[in-house]
Amino acid sequence: MATDFEWTRQQFTALPDVIYLDGNSLGLLPKQAAARVARTVTDEWGTMAISGWNRAGWMAAPRQLGDRIGRLIGAEPDHVVVGDTLSIKVYQALAAATRMTDRKVILSDTGNFPSDLYMAEGLISLLDGYELRTVAPDQVAQALTPDVGILMLTEVDYRTGRRHDMAALTQAAQTNGTITVWDLAHSAGATDVNVSAVDADFAVGCTYKFLNAGPGAPAFIYVNPRHADTAHPALSGWLGHKAPFAFDQAYAAGDGIDRMRVGTPPVIQNAALDAALDVWDQVDMADVRAASMALSDHFIAEVEARTNQLTLASPRDAAQRGSQVSFHFAEGYAAMQAVIARGVVGDFRAPDIMRFGITPLYITADDLTRAAEIIADVIEHDLWDRPEYQIRNAVT
Ligand SMILES: *Cc1c(COP(=O)(O)O)cnc(C)c1O
Repeated sequence: MATDFEWTRQQFTALPDVIYLDGNSLGLLPKQAAARVARTVTDEWGTMAISGWNRAGWMAAPRQLGDRIGRLIGAEPDHVVVGDTLSIKVYQALAAATRMTDRKVILSDTGNFPSDLYMAEGLISLLDGYELRTVAPDQVAQALTPDVGILMLTEVDYRTGRRHDMAALTQAAQTNGTITVWDLAHSAGATDVNVSAVDADFAVGCTYKFLNAGPGAPAFIYVNPRHADTAHPALSGWLGHKAPFAFDQAYAAGDGIDRMRVGTPPVIQNAALDAALDVWDQVDMADVRAASMALSDHFIAEVEARTNQLTLASPRDAAQRGSQVSFHFAEGYAAMQAVIARGVVGDFRAPDIMRFGITPLYITADDLTRAAEIIADVIEHDLWDRPEYQIRNAVT
């Protein structure tokens, strides 16, 4: 399958007069999603009510959607399920991993997304003798000492876009007898990640970033087939039970990935995810990765040709980047507000990162050239230096 990016671009609702470089945070609306959601609400909920669980397939959807995401992350069929939010899936995977080793050190890195670290802290606060150890991202391999039971990493750094060598680290972890939990928040739909090839134990991710399933869309979890029937689901909700509708008093985990389900699926959000995946079904991730690397290189070159005041925060080597480009700039917050006011939407991450998501499904090289012109104009002419650009919104 060769990806037709002209076609994919037509599948999204562009914002008028905006170059949208924030698809790494919240993807654009797939055109079909509005109608799909409306159909779920009106034709399914509105006409079927409770019978929609069977007749409209609401109950089966988390597994079917999981398999379609599974193709994009290199998972074996029947080993991915969607539900809950990413923070919860991080907790679940981590809790399951604690049951698979006697060692009590969880290793992560200081570049990890705070919620992942917070969830680990919360989990170990309920357990005896556990330690969450964080090291600089480039120190992870050396920190795989014999006491490390679990390695919990996010493949692509949310701030800089630096990409861990997932294959090498998973291999090193395995050699060390360490269970791996990979967060693919900035990888799914962004890189050519392959969980089965690298033999990850667990992987989790969200669907509202590069996968374009909309605000509040569910997360996903992958469990390696060798653990699928033994992993301890920890969040032992009724829909992960072997026989939810037997209403037994005692919990018994379901077969395979079904045990990672927790409670009632978000049916309306799942409808949006279904429409988003209709676009992804037509896409080859290798093509997306190649386009992402070329577009990112192009963007860096276009920005650097016009200003030397921005310092590249992302790796210069495309192979070591995810699908975003970040720059350090001391007045990054105000500068990003000024850039947004001129129609280029990126975002800011403390303390000084201006972050731009590269989404080949709907962004072109011409868009990135134009964005670079606007960014350089703001920086070179201090257009950010106005009081209104200093006001901080709740969501940056
Ligand atoms: C976006 C992101 C999250 C967000 O988790 P939610 O529960 O969906 O809010 C968590 N971890 C990482 C690494 C992320 O990039």
